[in-house]
This record gives sequence, structure tokens and C-alpha cells, in this order.
Amino acid sequence: MKSDRICAACGARFTPLVHIVNQRYCPLAACQLARRRAWQRERLQTDPDYRENQAKAQGTWRARHPDYWRRYRQTHPACRDRNRDMQRQRHARRHAEPIAKMDASNLPIPSALRHLLAICRPQENQGVARELALVFAKVPVTTSNEMRSKSFDPI
Ligand SMILES: [Zn+2]
Repeated sequence: MKSDRICAACGARFTPLVHIVNQRYCPLAACQLARRRAWQRERLQTDPDYRENQAKAQGTWRARHPDYWRRYRQTHPACRDRNRDMQRQRHARRHAEPIAKMDASNLPIPSALRHLLAICRPQENQGVARELALVFAKVPVTTSNEMRSKSFDPI
């Protein structure tokens, strides 16, 4: 006879079934659902074929039920708002890294400065070149998101 075990989901003691060798979850429906979800999460991370199959199956289902998620969002405003908040946080996290100074050449140069650079020949006008260098040195480190949201007026 098998000895009692502790359920991996609810933590309650249970007697494992004889024909299941390493039973870790009790027979409660909620614990079996937790077992299934843990298995699926692990499988999605480790098995590319399973992941691809799931994506295909979900795509097929979405094609057959085009209005499902629209209707779901309309009838579950709390879920919709929570999802929007979480998506905004993910977006902010993704775009929050400051631009490193070594990437300064990739920064979008404000159109006014670009114009000045175009007309300024450093070898002919050392003073303007020095001024521009000082302006660039004072430009604060800005996130790429902030840079995108700002607009610069042309001269
Ligand atoms: Zn349980």
C-alpha cells in the first residue's frame, strides 16, 4: 500500500492511486487543473513543436471565432482595463532603457540642430562648432520613448 503524500497544489494530504507511479497532485478538480497547467507551461517552454502546434490551433480557433475577444472585452471591462494596464507597463519597461552616450550618433537630431550642422563648417567657424558641442553636452539623457514623443520645430 502506498503512503500518503502532500499535494503539490493545495498542500493537503492524499493517498495516491496505485496505478499512478509518481502522483504529486490530489484528485480534486482544482488540483488536477493546476497539474495540467503546470505541465502545459513546462511543455510550452521546452517543446518547440508543441508550442508551434498550440499557436496554430489557437490561430485556427480565432479565425473561426473572430468576434470572441471583442465581445469578451465588452462584457468584461475589469479584465480589459487590467490587461491594458499590464500592457502599458510591459511597453514602458521595454522602452525605458536610457540611450547610452555611445549611441549618440543614432539619436534623432532635432531638425534645428541638424540645420545648424548642415550650414556649419567646423574648420571655417570654430566658434559655432564649439557652441554646438556645448549644446550637445547639455542635452540630458532621454529615453527613446521620450525622444519619440517630443516634436522639434524646424527653423
Ligand atoms: Zn490538492
